[in-house]
Amino acid sequence: MNPDRPAFRLTDDIQYLRGVGPKRAIDLRKLGIGAIGDLLEYFPSRHERQESRTIENLDEGTTATVVGRITSVRRQRGRRGISVSATLVDNTGRCSLYWFNASWMSDRIHQGMTVRATGKVREYRESPQLVNPKITTLDDDAAPVDESEPDRFEGVYPATAAISSQAISKLITTNLDTMLEQVEEWYPSEHLQTRKLPPRRWALDVMHRPTNERDVEPARRRLAYDELLLMQLATLLVRHHRRQNMTARPLNLTEEIDLRIRRRFPFSLTQAQDRAVSEVVDDLTQTRPMNRMLQGDVGCGKTVVALYAALVAVANKAQVAIMAPTELLAEQHAHSIARYLAKSRVKHDLLVGGLRATDRRNLLEGIETGALDIVVGTHALIQNDVRFSRLGLVVVDEQHRFGVRQRAMIRSKGPAPHYLVMTATPIPRTLAMTVFGDLDVTTIDELPPGRSRVQTQVIGPAEQEETWRFVRQRLEQGEQAYVVYPIIDESDKLELRAATTEFQRLSEAVFPVHQVGLLHGRMKRDEREAVMRDFVAGELDVLVATTVIEVGIDVPNATCMVVENAERYGLSQLHQLRGRIGRGRRQGFCFLMTGSDNATNNERLGVLASTTDGFKIAEEDLRLRGPGEMLGTRQHGLPELRVADLIQDGELLRFAQRDAGDLIRKDTQLRRPEHRMLRHMLMAKHGQTLKFLDVG
Ligand code: ADP
Ligand code: MG
Repeated sequence: MNPDRPAFRLTDDIQYLRGVGPKRAIDLRKLGIGAIGDLLEYFPSRHERQESRTIENLDEGTTATVVGRITSVRRQRGRRGISVSATLVDNTGRCSLYWFNASWMSDRIHQGMTVRATGKVREYRESPQLVNPKITTLDDDAAPVDESEPDRFEGVYPATAAISSQAISKLITTNLDTMLEQVEEWYPSEHLQTRKLPPRRWALDVMHRPTNERDVEPARRRLAYDELLLMQLATLLVRHHRRQNMTARPLNLTEEIDLRIRRRFPFSLTQAQDRAVSEVVDDLTQTRPMNRMLQGDVGCGKTVVALYAALVAVANKAQVAIMAPTELLAEQHAHSIARYLAKSRVKHDLLVGGLRATDRRNLLEGIETGALDIVVGTHALIQNDVRFSRLGLVVVDEQHRFGVRQRAMIRSKGPAPHYLVMTATPIPRTLAMTVFGDLDVTTIDELPPGRSRVQTQVIGPAEQEETWRFVRQRLEQGEQAYVVYPIIDESDKLELRAATTEFQRLSEAVFPVHQVGLLHGRMKRDEREAVMRDFVAGELDVLVATTVIEVGIDVPNATCMVVENAERYGLSQLHQLRGRIGRGRRQGFCFLMTGSDNATNNERLGVLASTTDGFKIAEEDLRLRGPGEMLGTRQHGLPELRVADLIQDGELLRFAQRDAGDLIRKDTQLRRPEHRMLRHMLMAKHGQTLKFLDVG
């Protein structure tokens, strides 16, 4: 064999690594380790410190390494199977080693053997004991432990039933040097200096076998930067590609059309809305498709801006699809559009699931012939038999509640429609940059005039009666109230039953003289519409509802909201909910009832009492619950990040974004020799998304 040639290459299949057979290879593939080099990026979730100790200095509760001679071995049969214990001595004393349910250990160790043992220390019958220690056999004349030696750290790797952390650790450490030799630096050294980043090879080494704790964070930071940079490069390249290669039909806006559209609204737009409109219009008049996110707090008037855009499209004889995540929300949009478009010639309709066959057929025909201008709907819009004749604009509401595929499908209903997404879940900057990094962002940061700030209070068990009394007083003034009851999963029969029971309790015991209605997601559409109609008309005083009312419902006369078991919701969701009140001129009141006096919970909810700034609340939510939870459980297109953390690495993310932009401006295809590694890694990680970059 050629001595200069490594035993393997990082790109070799994992199966060809010594010690990995076909079965092990399958287990490793399940962990995403397909090539040998993937091992390098399979990082420990934490490191365990292993202090080298003499027996007399063992401390209970620590994980320690001792070296000594085994003087006796015993097997015992117990309730939990066969356990093995041994006595270990060094120059300073004796301790015992103990393995639960591990009869095979008695074959591996025997009296007289010198071993290094690492394990957690506990006290047993007044002498120290290592529990389930890991054992390495040493030569008989091995040196005793040198306590001045630096502590060792061992990586604890995410493991599965099929493959343990130790097995992974062993595989990595025995091959680490050969792997590291082949790691190339991604950036010129000036760049490392500017960003204060250590070399990649060093960072990988430290992650797998640190010699001290101080090194771990700089190493992690370097690898996090790499991860974020690749992600930003991929995002920017996709966006660049879209701009270069997709042409949309530019829409035209005259002063006359503008006036005609504005006349549809019984108010003048706020400054923030005007700004949003002009950004949107600017996009619509281009020859490449608009790709914009319109974000702003609940009730700030996004729908109005979207409708403006829709009417520009219609004036240009293009069709518009507006897609919402729930039927209720789609219905709400359809209602408000109907209201704004009363007596206009614009044809609009609602497409949701469960329509009568003939109604559905007529609707589809209207879409296909182009007779319909605006279609509002749920994901029913993306079914195969929905064919638009001239789709020019797609509006998606709360897009993070749709899967990636659903978003792609609605856009594919036209050749290259303009695309506008609305979100009332204010998305923290860092998250927006990663999840929606290819969208331009417009923020509406002003509420229409005359809105009062909702007063919010956290209510413990002792203050409930008083709260209900307060709500009854508001009802006496002719105002209305929501009571929100948590159903996390609308298909859960038990939860639904609990909501129904609560509804009965409220109508009989709490609001005996008022009209109370119930609204939940499992009701038939006409039942739901009837309840909503009654509430809007004021025939119901109280609406007991699940979170189906989260978005879109607009009843200005409703001034009170009581949220039961508020601790079960995320902060952003609660903020959304309370956006349903205080929509008129009267003061709104929101009561967050908690089942307990739990201080952490109440402190968390207290954030809502202290601010009405949706962005602050979202940041707090992100910090407390993590991005996945915050955006909801759907496939939200969150990138898989191994080392980077969107919460703590915000600054790094901004660096990565800036640097990715600079790189692409200088070398769009990353063709320059100094970008070879970056390009290679980019294709390896994001090749699927970047198919259009020719490989090579
Ligand atoms: P969002 O979609 O952001 O939640 P909407 O567009 O549904 O907000 O508007 C919320 C409410 O505010 C609606 O009742 C709407 O009629 C009203 N509204 C919107 N814009 C204005 C405005 N410029 N002036 C007064 N009221 C407005
Ligand atoms: Mg809305």
